[in-house]
Formats: sequence, structure tokens, C-alpha cells
Amino acid sequence: LLFCRRLLTRSFLGLIFLFSLSTSALYFIYSAPGIVNEYVFMVQARGIQIRENVKNIGAQVLEQVVRGAYSVNGTDYSYDFNMSESDAPPTTYLPEDFTYLPSQVCPERMLSMKGRLEVNMSEVSLEEVERSFLEGEPSIATGGYWKPNDCLPRWKVAILVPFRNRHEHLPILLRHLVPVLQKQRLQFAFYLIEQGGTEPFNRAMLFNVGFKEAMKDIDWDCLIFHDVDHLMENDRNYYGCTDMPRHFAVKLDKYSYMLPYNEFFGGVSGMTVKQFKKINGFPNAFWGWGGEDDDLWNRVRYANYTVSRPRGDQGRYMSIPHHHRGEVQFLGRYSLLRHSKERQKVDGLNNLNYSPLVSRRPLYTNITVSLSRKLAPIADY
Ligand code: BGC
Repeated sequence: LLFCRRLLTRSFLGLIFLFSLSTSALYFIYSAPGIVNEYVFMVQARGIQIRENVKNIGAQVLEQVVRGAYSVNGTDYSYDFNMSESDAPPTTYLPEDFTYLPSQVCPERMLSMKGRLEVNMSEVSLEEVERSFLEGEPSIATGGYWKPNDCLPRWKVAILVPFRNRHEHLPILLRHLVPVLQKQRLQFAFYLIEQGGTEPFNRAMLFNVGFKEAMKDIDWDCLIFHDVDHLMENDRNYYGCTDMPRHFAVKLDKYSYMLPYNEFFGGVSGMTVKQFKKINGFPNAFWGWGGEDDDLWNRVRYANYTVSRPRGDQGRYMSIPHHHRGEVQFLGRYSLLRHSKERQKVDGLNNLNYSPLVSRRPLYTNITVSLSRKLAPIADY
């Protein structure tokens, strides 16, 4: 009897142990989406990297064999398989002292865009960044508006940054990105769209709100959807638009600088106002972390666009490390994604209501908005 009792107690304790183990694992998967995804994609990226290296070596050997067979006198030119656009000799970039007229459209490529950038992630206060840009002869107007005065900007770009509780990241982003955009001779302004209320973060809906508010302000023609913690590593990653929607953040340090999957559209993307209106903007139905960028990809494809990407190392980014405290993964994203096509017509710019609080700061416009599901009514999917 004693033996049976002990056995029962042990099995019971064992069951409790297993139960708590599995609930903490579930809690981990649910509440730490970034970490889980980063780990999965890192492992995947390593695998792809090994396969790519094997493929490259194979291709190089084959190339040498084929070239050897065809070259007549052995004076064949050498070909670098690993050369990317940013490493290429900058013959297509205009010299630094190139002079252009204020009445001419700004060039897209200048030698002052050197390629590889230093990334400074050290913490800095917003006031200090404001001071550094605004002292002397400030060329940035309140609200963060800037345009070149030596040529006509090729694109008028609204940089939309969704935001909640990441106050330390914003000045780092501004310190890094403002000088790049000035070098790229773009007209631009930053819009920070801050989510209030207690609902899970809705990155996509914040972009829709940012778009609507920005368009009340200036007739922008190009939109950049930018995470606050993403810092570009190459200033030739031009933030103008193209005839196709563009994915800028192709190679992220957190994914070992490999594209995690072909349809990945996260971090930093952009498109013209015309393209954004055509796809009915972002979906509003994604509450919590994940899926909204995959849905945007589907929208773009259903509108018969293809996605363009910067070549080679131009699309490299570092992300500011942070804790994923309080973030919730949106587990319903896969079932929503199965209905991207039907939802595209009814969920987006056309079913969105909100009441924003807009204020102009020295380097950006702040839009605070409290979001809830009833602001973008949509049938269940
Ligand atoms: C999510 C995307 C995210 C990607 C990379 C996917 O599982 O649905 O929203 O961008 O992982 O982290």
C-alpha cells in the first residue's frame, strides 16, 4: 500500500512537472516571438549559407572549366562571383564635386554615397540629437521637414515609423538616418505613429493611420515603412521609390544577413502612394506580433506587382537589441493569411476610422492614436 501511494505521489508530481514545463514552453513561444523566430531563422540561415557556399564553389569550378575550354590565348578576364552592386567600381556614381542646377532633378547616385556606413547604436537623448541637427544654420523645419536646395528632389518621401515604448531607439534612428537621406538628396519628413490604449500592438494599422495623416500634410509621392530599431549599413540603399514596391531590409544581422524566406517583407519596405492606394494599404486585422508584412506581400502580388530589392550588400541592416517584454505573438495570423485575397478589398485604407492627436516636434511629427478593433470593422476569417 505504501509503495502504491509513493508511486502515485511521484507520478502526480511528475505530471505537474511536465505540465508546468509545457505551459512555460507555450508561454515562451507565445510571448517571445522575436526570440523564437530569430532562433529558427538563424538556424535556417546557417543551413542556407552552407548550401550557398557549396553552390558557389561548384559554379566557380564549372566557370573555370568552361572558360578554360573557350579562351584562345589565356588572356581571359577574371570574374568575381561574389561581387555585389555596392562593391562594384562606382562608375555609375557621379563625382562628389559634380555640379547640378537648382532647376534640375537631383541625381540618384553620387560619390558622397560611399556605400558601407558606420552604425552607432550608443544611447543618446532626443534633445542631444535635436541640438546637433538644429544648431548653426538649421535646414530642418519643425516637424522634421527637409528638402535639398541645390536641386529638385526626385522623390518626396514620408518616413512612417510605428511606435510603442521604444523611446531610447528613436534618437538613435534619427541620428543615423537623417544625414543619409540628406546625402541622397530626397525631400523627406518623419512621422512617428504611437499606439495608445491597451490592445496588442498593431503595426499595420499604425502605418495606415500614418499614411492618412501624412497625406493631409504634404502631397508625398513615396512612402517608407520603417521599424524604429532598424539601422541601414549602406548609404547606397536609396530610399526613393521605383515602379514596383520595394523591400529594403533584405539582409538583417539577426538572420545572419540572409533572407529568411523569399516572401519576407518585414523591417523596412516602401512604395509609391499610387501603389499603396491600389493595394488598399496594410491590413488592419493583425493584432500582435507577426503576419502583417506577409499579408502586405500577398496584397502586392494580387495587384500584379513584383517586389524589387536592393542588390548585394546594399540591403544590409543592423537591429538595435532589445527585450521582447510584453509583446504577444499573433497566433491567428496563418488563418488570416489564407484569406488575404478576399480581405484585401474590405480591410485596409477603406474601413479605417480613428481620432489622432497630432503634434510637431523639432525632428518629426508625432501622431498618437488609441487603437481598437471597432475602428476597423471586419468579418471574422
Ligand atoms: C512573421 C513575419 C515576420 C517574419 C520574420 C514570420 O513568421 O509572420 O511577420 O516578419 O516571421 O520574423
